[in-house]
Amino acid sequence: MSKKTFSQQVLQWFDQHGRKHLPWQQGINAYRVWVSEIMLQQTQVATVIPYFERFMERFPCVEDLAAADIDEVLHLWTGLGYYARARNLHKCAQTVVNEYDGEFPYSVEALSSLSGIGRSTAGAIASIAYGAEAAILDGNVKRVLARYHAVDGWPGQTQVLNQLWEIAEGYTPASRNAHYTQAMMDLGATLCTRSRPACGECPLRDGCLAYAQGEQTRYPGKKPKKTLPEKTVQLLMLRNPHGELLLQKRPAQGIWGGLWSFPELASDADAEVHCEDQYAPPMATETWDSYRHTFSHYHLDITPVLLDLAREPRQLQEPEGWRWFNLHNPDSVGLAAPVKKLLDKLRELSPVA
Ligand code: SF4
Repeated sequence: MSKKTFSQQVLQWFDQHGRKHLPWQQGINAYRVWVSEIMLQQTQVATVIPYFERFMERFPCVEDLAAADIDEVLHLWTGLGYYARARNLHKCAQTVVNEYDGEFPYSVEALSSLSGIGRSTAGAIASIAYGAEAAILDGNVKRVLARYHAVDGWPGQTQVLNQLWEIAEGYTPASRNAHYTQAMMDLGATLCTRSRPACGECPLRDGCLAYAQGEQTRYPGKKPKKTLPEKTVQLLMLRNPHGELLLQKRPAQGIWGGLWSFPELASDADAEVHCEDQYAPPMATETWDSYRHTFSHYHLDITPVLLDLAREPRQLQEPEGWRWFNLHNPDSVGLAAPVKKLLDKLRELSPVA
């Protein structure tokens, strides 16, 4: 199918069926497109909507975000996962304000040089916010194009990725580029879905090789499986006599970077002995059931241990990088997802008197 026919069919479908009422499709500007694109990486539209709305209410423009405390940014991100995205967002906002006078650059190349903005996100901003003739290749578009052209192999491999970029650029039209970009994302998200594509409703069906072969789910190729290593850890929920929980700020690098978490302890260490040595003697100890949290590169088996301290630990009265967290009057800080879950459970177990 020619470039023109391909994009015309996609655009015709978009005019009738595309999504036009998503929050980031209103009052379009580069800032809103950028925030939505970052949030949508590895996350579904329905999950992103309330996060996007809260974010825009608190940080309506890039200057507000640049001036914010990182703790507040991470707080508004809590639950979305992949926290490096939030840290990069904050850093990028500061660069845009300090080096670009608060205006996102126009070219894909300049946009890609900013923290956390890859080639596809740069293409989406240039296309949707500025109407530029820029291609995108997010997960949805990869799936549509890999199927349409029956491209074998996992798109994480450079050679496969390059092939898909070439195809994507070949189809990207000069006019109505913003609508075409949105249309391709919508097609992948609503019709050409991972496990049960609705080929009967697809405007590309006549030229689609995967459909012709009856092998839609063979494309794109799967990531080669590898067994993830397993690690185990105890999370210490240290509760002071006022009912507050001790949280520790994690280093900026590494898992849950910059977020607040419970202190960790090796799984084979004695939690009570450690507690007495480092904090204060525990009056009561409760070991909760272990559960698994899976990161992209390993499984973490977490055993939460609740320790009620007999007194406030003296060395932590004015701690740097530590805070006492009040369950019923919580601070606006970023929390690691498993920690948030545990705090929610503790709150349920200790309602306000
Ligand atoms: S015909 Fe089916 S497999 Fe091909 S692009 Fe459309 S929805 Fe995807």
